[in-house]
Amino acid sequence: MPGPHPTTASYDPEAVRAKYLAERDKRLVPNRADIRDLRADEHFARYRDDPFKPVIERDPVVDDVDVVIVGGGIAGVLAGAQLRKAGLERIRIVDQAGGIGGTWYWNRYPGVMCDVESYIYLPMLEELDYIPTQRYALGGEILGHLEAVADRFDLVADALFHTGVTRAEWHEDVARWWISTDRGDVVRCRWYVLAVGILNLMKLPTIPGMEDFAGRSFHTARWDYEYTGGGPEEPLTGLSDKVVGLIGTGASGIQCVPPLAKSAKHLYVFQRTPSAIGERGNRPTDPDFADGLEPNWQRARMDNFQAIVLGRPVEVDQVDDGWTHDYAAVQNVPRGKDMTMAEYLRSAEELDYGIMETHRHRIEELVADPAKVEILKPYYRYLCKRPCFHDEYLSAFNNPDVTLVDCPAGMERITRKGPVVNGRQYEVDCIIYGTGFERELTPLFRRAGHEIVGRGGVSLAEKWADGAASLFGMMSRGFPNMFVMPAPGQQAVVTVNYTQLAVLGAEFIGGAVGLLEQRGVEVFDVSAKAEEAWTQAIVDSFVDSSAVMSACTPSRINNEGHPELTNPRNGNYGRGFGDWFAYRERLEQWLEAGSLEGLELEVRSTAS
Ligand SMILES: Cc1cc2nc3c(=O)[nH]c(=O)nc-3n(C[C@H](O)[C@H](O)[C@H](O)COP(=O)(O)OP(=O)(O)OC[C@H]3O[C@@H](n4cnc5c(N)ncnc54)[C@H](O)[C@@H]3O)c2cc1C
Repeated sequence: MPGPHPTTASYDPEAVRAKYLAERDKRLVPNRADIRDLRADEHFARYRDDPFKPVIERDPVVDDVDVVIVGGGIAGVLAGAQLRKAGLERIRIVDQAGGIGGTWYWNRYPGVMCDVESYIYLPMLEELDYIPTQRYALGGEILGHLEAVADRFDLVADALFHTGVTRAEWHEDVARWWISTDRGDVVRCRWYVLAVGILNLMKLPTIPGMEDFAGRSFHTARWDYEYTGGGPEEPLTGLSDKVVGLIGTGASGIQCVPPLAKSAKHLYVFQRTPSAIGERGNRPTDPDFADGLEPNWQRARMDNFQAIVLGRPVEVDQVDDGWTHDYAAVQNVPRGKDMTMAEYLRSAEELDYGIMETHRHRIEELVADPAKVEILKPYYRYLCKRPCFHDEYLSAFNNPDVTLVDCPAGMERITRKGPVVNGRQYEVDCIIYGTGFERELTPLFRRAGHEIVGRGGVSLAEKWADGAASLFGMMSRGFPNMFVMPAPGQQAVVTVNYTQLAVLGAEFIGGAVGLLEQRGVEVFDVSAKAEEAWTQAIVDSFVDSSAVMSACTPSRINNEGHPELTNPRNGNYGRGFGDWFAYRERLEQWLEAGSLEGLELEVRSTAS
């Protein structure tokens, strides 16, 4: 478990602030946040191709189903399961991927694993009577489990894989959505569910000369095993005579460094900003884990984790990891009764400093070379960048065949031979972009990758041009019979454990469709009043954190150095990241009341 934080007796707030700002400024360079639009980029569009399963030719499908779910990741599978429980027969998942899994289909890089405890991250463990084999499961196990859930609820036979939805349009005359795809399909459906992902758009930087590189290159979310050999859990045998350049040291980059270090002839790790790497503490599941688990144990464990993250009292910390220690501590700094705001802010800064010092000391303990130690040390406040946890990443730098290249301002360029940093050419055979994904707050209409056209020909992009407008972050006026799985930036809440939010969203959709079907409702839409009230509640609880976040090192979390651009309408239900428990209570009470409050309903004339 994470140890005690070192003394902060020598803490000098002015000096720490100055150091953090200096480190931030090194990284605040023009165009640092520029990215390529992979959907439109002629040269790099191939990066999106599926390297895992061949695309099989098929005829276009033209038919009618009860529901189309766009996306077959955790969210889509859970929505499908709940809709099946609600009695729907024809459920069609459509996904660009060649199978179920979403994130876990695409991300098969070596070492990929969840960073939230698997007993709360893998969904429906009780229904499937499954206990993950490790505290933090590897990607293959997560993928296998999601496939098992999809099989259990018979979601695969009707699915269309390797199929991108290009347009969804509401047809008022027949009260159906028409879903068009890049395979020429037109599927008509009564209910349309968006489960398109939160980190589904790969991010590629715009480094001058990238196109000129003559070697092999790919993104971690489309790992090229044909080139590297091996597999997610096997040595990368094809790299024994290859020099590899890895760009990026965020959550994906750090997970694939240890296996790359073991297999490559030489590995260059190009780092713009170091992540804070806490202890992972992974271990096989205790053989006694399942003994004595009470029914509903998974929901209780998720709640326990969530309560700690939100600073609520609990009797015991069931998960007991870096999230419940460091993350929760920084999020919930205690405020003494007599503390002034200035005193409180100072104590929050000091606590943060202690935690970051622990991380910096850990590097000194694990990495032998003092030059590497200094480059790996994160100098910013803990929540400026998504925290990472790993047991082998830091020690991988003790391998003489691993070179860490510090490039806070980014790379100068990439030539035919490889990256150039500080005037030095690094010759590599292969470049791997561990550069992550477009941020979660990317608007839904962009993440969805298709045009969504509602009543009167108005698109969601037009309607949400000035920010989201919804009821519960899951339905939007003018888009009848449409549900959106809740996600950050969309008037719902943010959770460290995304699965908990997906479970709630799926239960809500299943419950709501069940009620609508029972009442014989042909069409529902959100009332203007209900949407205004929900949106106003979101705006009213918005907390402008840009003063703190602008002092951060630029990252996805602070909008790459521009936290002031956050639109309050794209905020959460409750202050800050939102109040999970209040949000869930609202949704559950709404379902329990059964009155479909806030919806305008068109009931079938034949309904009993
Ligand atoms: C490597 C990695 C590790 C992660 N670990 C954690 C973790 O430990 N804990 C955590 O809470 N979160 C984690 N996340 C975040 C993760 O994305 C979510 O936990 C979760 O998997 C998202 O599920 P989803 O179903 O919402 O989206 P996704 O899994 O992204 O699935 C969305 C699917 O929609 C498809 N799609 C989108 N648009 C279209 C379209 N127009 N047509 C057809 N298909 C479309 C995509 O192809 C994709 O398969 C991790 C993310 C990554 C990348």
